[in-house]
Amino acid sequence: MLISLGESNARERSICEHTCQAETYQSWFWRKNAQAWKQRRTNSKGVQAVGKDSKEEKEMTHYLSPNFTLEEMVKSQTAERKGIPNVPSQIHIEDMEALCEKILQPIRDEFGPFMVSSGYRSPELCVAIGSSLDSQHAKGQAADFEVPGIDNYDLARWIEDNLDYDQLILECYTGGNTGWIHCSYVEHGRAESLTYNRKDGYTHGLKKDG
Ligand SMILES: [Zn+2]
Repeated sequence: MLISLGESNARERSICEHTCQAETYQSWFWRKNAQAWKQRRTNSKGVQAVGKDSKEEKEMTHYLSPNFTLEEMVKSQTAERKGIPNVPSQIHIEDMEALCEKILQPIRDEFGPFMVSSGYRSPELCVAIGSSLDSQHAKGQAADFEVPGIDNYDLARWIEDNLDYDQLILECYTGGNTGWIHCSYVEHGRAESLTYNRKDGYTHGLKKDG
């Protein structure tokens, strides 16, 4: 039963939508993980998991691919420092899952462990760090990263040759492990490779001299 209350109703609805989204995400989060967690418990100890409301179950990790978690894809020092919620929607999570499966996991399998420096960014976080609201980071489709000990140009070339990416950007590279790589994934992507430096901005192709 909804009665129009002008502005206050709009505000109410906005709060409600936010809450509903958070609840939907949380229930989806636990439901999805409960199965994987029970599987692990059964495999390692030969017993079934305890009740679904247990503290242990709520503390389990949400894997998007064998070596990448939702927690590391939404982690942001700026968000933590400024108290900004960086909560993705279910669609964002599904896109992050695809990004992990198609891009990050194959890189990890080839080159070994590495950390994502920036994954998902909520609209509020985009504003706080001066990132575009249209950025694929805001859709859960892009990540910034580098692999310790691997030249970023060589890594970008490997991605270009081996993976089905949407947009690949070699950013602020001046040799060796300088700069970082931005890579996005969507189904039937553009396969667009770019180089970015502060002097020339974005240019087409991967350039070793920046
Ligand atoms: Zn990026």
